[in-house]
Amino acid sequence: MKKISLNSQILIGTLAGILLGVALSMLDKESATSQVSLYIAELLGMLFVDLLKMVMIPLVFTSIVVGVANLRAHQQIHRVWKTTLGYFFLTATVAIILGLTAANLFQPGEGLQLPMFQDAIQNFQANEMTLPEFFTQFLHSLFLNPVAALAQGNILAVVIFALLMGIALVIGGERFQNIRLILQELLELVLMLVGWIMKLAPLCIMALLIKLVVTQDLSLLMILIKFISLVIGTILLHALIVLPMILYLVTGMTPIKFWLGAREALITAFATSSSSATLPVTLQCAEQNLHVNRDIAGFVLPLGATVNMDGTALYEAAAALFVANLAGVDLNLIQQMIVFFTAMLAAMGAPGIPSAGMVTMLMVLQSVGLPVEAIAILLPIDRLLDAFRTSVNVEGDMVGSLVVQKVVENVQHDTNDN
Ligand code: ASP
Repeated sequence: MKKISLNSQILIGTLAGILLGVALSMLDKESATSQVSLYIAELLGMLFVDLLKMVMIPLVFTSIVVGVANLRAHQQIHRVWKTTLGYFFLTATVAIILGLTAANLFQPGEGLQLPMFQDAIQNFQANEMTLPEFFTQFLHSLFLNPVAALAQGNILAVVIFALLMGIALVIGGERFQNIRLILQELLELVLMLVGWIMKLAPLCIMALLIKLVVTQDLSLLMILIKFISLVIGTILLHALIVLPMILYLVTGMTPIKFWLGAREALITAFATSSSSATLPVTLQCAEQNLHVNRDIAGFVLPLGATVNMDGTALYEAAAALFVANLAGVDLNLIQQMIVFFTAMLAAMGAPGIPSAGMVTMLMVLQSVGLPVEAIAILLPIDRLLDAFRTSVNVEGDMVGSLVVQKVVENVQHDTNDN
């Protein structure tokens, strides 16, 4: 009998997860079947995320060092850098403009009376942070003792240390050949583990989706439906039109071809709500299905998983305007520009973990004097919106790796032609 491919198994797991989740949420929550099923789903989901996290830090470290070190061979290191950062900045800008425009057009939250949240707002202890404080903390978290950063899973500090090591290997050249080879082998070894973990993906993604569907608070979703639809609709606009258009214009790749190659990563991002935990899958899809050169993928994707978050940026901008409407505050153009910049910083500063955007959201609200306590309204609906944000965050990274690869290839051809 023909074996079903992993890709198809993951799709089946996704559909089964959603259907079983819906069926389970119709059962009595206290019934034994419901409780046992949810417990097993939670356990499996947790295991999968733990396994991905287990390989995530060694993978980020080795893929960035090796990626940067090998870029030397391309003699394209500057172009890769510039294109990557340029792309990150451009797409985040478009995402935030989309978020702000949609919120200005549809005014979610206007006239909404939420007495049921008054208590929550009063009792909520927000960890307030001003923009300068956030900036200081952000800079302070960049350079850490690498052993501590690796042990604590502090991904941003690991990325920075790996980048510096990679650059040192490039400058040191032949002298550090052995270290480079060892790291290269370590990377291949970790990728082997990723392959094993992926075999569990269909079952575990099903479990994660069951939990996602069952634990939604439907009455709350209905009250905030306008805001939720606005966020999801705008995120989909970015995911289905903006990013594919950039991809097509630069590389000529059709959206269908891209999504077919990227779908395992996009589904994993949706189910785990973590760009970092999805990174092993993202790298695998980019290299194996979309044929991104390992050195470029190894550089763009781990960096993107930490600093390139279009979905988060878009969400934070739209949510700030939503909160302003709830509070009955009209944000003028200057204030919206402040929201623009803080949303950009907030998305860069948010680690790729579930609901990380909620923490940096405080800073965005604070920057224009909105009540940070409003986070109490956003938190209960965050699991669902985070799933969409994270998928588009990961999509943005993968499109970025293809765009960078194409730009570098073009320049190489031009140089060879001359
Ligand atoms: N969960 C998102 C991610 O990992 C970050 C966020 O909360 O927006 O990409």
